[in-house]
Amino acid sequence: MKADGNMTSEAPLYRNHVLLLSQNFTIKDNQHELQLHAHKYDFDFRFFCEVRDFVAAVEADTGNGLYVIDLDALHNMQSDMEDRRKTLMLGELLQRLPASHSYVYLQSARQGSRFLLQQRLVDSNCLAYAEKPIPNDVLVDKLFNLFIQKKRGDLVRLMVLGEVAGLDENALLRRRLELVRHLDPQTLHLRVKDVQPEMVLITEAEFERNEAIVRILKKNIEADPVREIVLLQQRLDAGPHPDLVRRALAGGFDAIMQATEPALLAGQLINRADKIRVNKDLIGKDRATGLLNKVGLQKKAQELVRQAAREDRSLTLGVVDIDKFKTINDTWGHHFGDIVIKRLSLALAQHVEEGDLLSRFGGEEFVVVFWDTTLEEGRRRLDAMRRSFCDVAFEVAPGEVRHFSFSGGLAAYPEYKSENELFLRADAMLYVAKQNGRNQVCTHPVAEAGAPG
Ligand code: GH3
Ligand code: MG
Ligand code: MG
Repeated sequence: MKADGNMTSEAPLYRNHVLLLSQNFTIKDNQHELQLHAHKYDFDFRFFCEVRDFVAAVEADTGNGLYVIDLDALHNMQSDMEDRRKTLMLGELLQRLPASHSYVYLQSARQGSRFLLQQRLVDSNCLAYAEKPIPNDVLVDKLFNLFIQKKRGDLVRLMVLGEVAGLDENALLRRRLELVRHLDPQTLHLRVKDVQPEMVLITEAEFERNEAIVRILKKNIEADPVREIVLLQQRLDAGPHPDLVRRALAGGFDAIMQATEPALLAGQLINRADKIRVNKDLIGKDRATGLLNKVGLQKKAQELVRQAAREDRSLTLGVVDIDKFKTINDTWGHHFGDIVIKRLSLALAQHVEEGDLLSRFGGEEFVVVFWDTTLEEGRRRLDAMRRSFCDVAFEVAPGEVRHFSFSGGLAAYPEYKSENELFLRADAMLYVAKQNGRNQVCTHPVAEAGAPG
């Protein structure tokens, strides 16, 4: 089944791409399999066998791609720097790669055992190296991790209790770290519950004043178990204070950071935040679409419902499920089904605004949360999404175009009070939409007449 590039719609199907320089015979048989794995991770491969073409593509790229070089290719490549035909040498290859980018090198285990070669590679604009043989799915998974590390991720929030002088908040913000200062130890746990920071920093002085703070944070059953609580050491001369540190660790602090030098503290925080961001992405996002997964959605939706309560706003949660998707899979194949899911994610994303949430909740089911939106507005917005998806033309065979549809159900806060209640009600309304003939969105058991359009 021909399933790639068969959509008449224009938006690129995969968000990221990998340019791979490799000799045909080493990778050729793998190309199709590599590509299929990559599509599950929201990227695709572009294959090159000539250095010249590869370099031109790297130079023309936006800089968001990954550039991978299979060093085995060297054995079979010709140098075209001079007129003489000779095998391309590593040094020449490295020299020809644009220095403004970094590269992933695929080397054989034999090459890896040569320390000098290894050192030369990691010093040559190396983003990462991998040792062959490496299975296709493992390589794709590792490249995906690099994409996650490369991208400008979500904001990480740090809450600080106590006086920390000299931290440059704007510089941290540029690195996607938001510093929230809190002054009152007695209300720290309440503020943490509202703001949901990824890290809480407590100065030694505050901890000494009230050692129960950390236990109060930790023992709350609703506390995020992966949140990090860090003790900031501020003694300039005395150095670490063993008894205090021992009590801090026993009380539940996860780490101790030196805070005597603001720039060094900022460096530590930035590195920690990068790790936290990667973890959050791996746990809370769907690889194939980059959208929130079920775990990520539940957490964010709970936060949003709390915010709606605080700010006295409404929000609407919608559940979306593709109609007769089993038939799509059965008729045109699972890979084609995946592309339909991908297209749906792009169609939905077009309509999502700042403050809304969009999640791939499961296989062909999506959840959307419209912030500050009443049930009726939410219904209109979800219906606009439904029409957009219906408009997408899928060329299932040359010259044969099909359109697909989804059904949706909606529920709104404050009528339904929690993320779970909202979901259950919206899912029940999805069932109504299915019963009522599909390709429509429902808000009430008595379905509106004439919804399909
Ligand atoms: P309905 O209109 O009632 O929703 O009918 P349906 O055929 O869509 O029924 P249902 O929603 O229960 O079908 C879901 C199917 O989606 C079952 C499963 O094989 C398939 N599926 C789930 N996840 C994926 C995926 O990631 N890719 C593909 N291609 N298929 C998937
Ligand atoms: Mg389903
Ligand atoms: Mg379905």
